[in-house]
Amino acid sequence: MAAAPSPRWEHAVVTGGAGFVGSHLCTALIAEGTAVTCVDDFCTGTPENVAQLAGRPEFSLLRADVTEPFDIARPTDLVLHFASPASPADYLRLPLHTLETGSLGTRNALMLARRHGARFVLASTSEAYGDPQQHPQSESYWGNVNPVGPRSVYDEAKRFGEALTTAEAGVHGTATGIVRLFNTYGPRMRGYDGRAVPTFVRQALAGEPLTVTGDGQQTRSLAYVDDTVRGILAMAASDLPGPVNIGNPDEITMLDLAYKIIELAGSDSTVRFIERPADDPAVRCPDITLARDKLQWEPRISADEGLARTIGWYRGQAAG
Ligand code: NAD
Repeated sequence: MAAAPSPRWEHAVVTGGAGFVGSHLCTALIAEGTAVTCVDDFCTGTPENVAQLAGRPEFSLLRADVTEPFDIARPTDLVLHFASPASPADYLRLPLHTLETGSLGTRNALMLARRHGARFVLASTSEAYGDPQQHPQSESYWGNVNPVGPRSVYDEAKRFGEALTTAEAGVHGTATGIVRLFNTYGPRMRGYDGRAVPTFVRQALAGEPLTVTGDGQQTRSLAYVDDTVRGILAMAASDLPGPVNIGNPDEITMLDLAYKIIELAGSDSTVRFIERPADDPAVRCPDITLARDKLQWEPRISADEGLARTIGWYRGQAAG
């Protein structure tokens, strides 16, 4: 029998590991033999998201708010800093916590990585580009962000986190990396978190009208979570400082997304147009040349496949 491949890391700390993306990261790391400590304050995540890992000796769950200094005794060779409210509904409800998690939380996670000599990866966001005037967005674009707009608590926290991470590497030599994640969807997003895919899927499965904002012509590029997780781990395994865009360049209008979900769910829902939120970006599409060239990463899962998997998961949840 062939020996099991050795894990890329012995022990990883995942802040925000009980959230949507973080829980998939914890699962992927455990699957490849890396022990994981998930640090989460459950402000938007839940222990149920990592319930499938609870009880495994390689997995620990620590309830802690990363805006307060925290330490992990176990030797750690990877810190993935994913703690942050991420959906507009959450960060508008938790504006100060979002700013503090992006600033103090990033500082505390960086200090943990420094103490352990660990590789550090910051989850930044396509929101760092704001309402972009360059399309698609490459990492060299500096963005168009309103620093006092409603979304600024998230955008500016992430931009500050990027600056702090970059300065940490320069001053202390910590091996940092930054990924700018574009919209990611999949199982475990909360149906009421306000993001388009879970909202539309919930509405389609309930036979309710799908609420499309504005005229629905604004675009997003949507990556299935397994693709995003593969990109994050490729970044972690590299020595690139980033930022590196991780996203799916297949762009879709919100109206087309709504109709696609209605069709894939076999639903007879209709579409209802509602007011578009302030500062909602008109377009969002990653240029992933850098990830392709340096990480040999690109998305593999089509929208039809990813959405079908996601709809299947929500159906399973509803069936109990
Ligand atoms: P999520 O809300 O599901 O997960 C965030 C997790 O962080 C939750 O479990 C929450 O409880 C935890 N958290 C928040 N503040 C914390 C704090 N101070 N201390 C400890 N835990 C805290 O969101 P998500 O979609 O999984 O996003 C995860 C990360 O990826 C975020 O940093 C987000 O900015 C980034 N991101 C996500 C997307 C996406 O499309 N999902 C896109 C771009 C960036």
